[in-house]
Amino acid sequence: MTSTSPHDLWRALISDVPDWPEPGVTFKDITPLLADGVEFSLVIDAMATSWAGRVDVVAGIEARGFVLGAPIAHRLGLGFVPLRKQGKLPRDTHAAQYDLEYGTATLEVHADAFAPGARVLVVDDVLATGGTAAAAVGLVDRAGARVVGLSVLMELTFLGGRATLEGSAPDLPLHVLLAY
Ligand code: AMP
Repeated sequence: MTSTSPHDLWRALISDVPDWPEPGVTFKDITPLLADGVEFSLVIDAMATSWAGRVDVVAGIEARGFVLGAPIAHRLGLGFVPLRKQGKLPRDTHAAQYDLEYGTATLEVHADAFAPGARVLVVDDVLATGGTAAAAVGLVDRAGARVVGLSVLMELTFLGGRATLEGSAPDLPLHVLLAY
């Protein structure tokens, strides 16, 4: 008898979109997973449970890190802090610039977003080259808190993000639900 594991089901609910947003990139589209109430809830549980009691606040990376991070915070009974793209936050901010394949991008956080020394869990959908996650770790640090873990739905292992992250945040606990 064969049985389908939750991980197989979640993989089946993530669509590969070839050559999007540019040639050579296979985009991982999580919208079918988000649209499935039962599986979305199970994914949030799986991304949240191991962090209970180990973090004080959850920070999500815009935009899919919000969709996953806010329910994880809710599940853990914690607050949520958005790490936003440049120019979106209305009050004083800290900023971290990082490299993309072409050009650079900037993440920002409100300067008073964290209690001093707060233990932060950073959440995103995909760890690819690791530049975004490394920038998020630096940004939280600049805002006076410390990242104690990173939780991602997917790791694209062939892009080496884990090594990039290790270079800027050695020994950071990383929780990955689905590795590709
Ligand atoms: P990186 O900085 O290269 O690790 O890229 C991670 C960020 O880019 C995450 O916020 C993802 O949402 C997005 N991303 C990178 N590659 C993909 C992909 N193949 N499919 C979906 N999102 C991606």
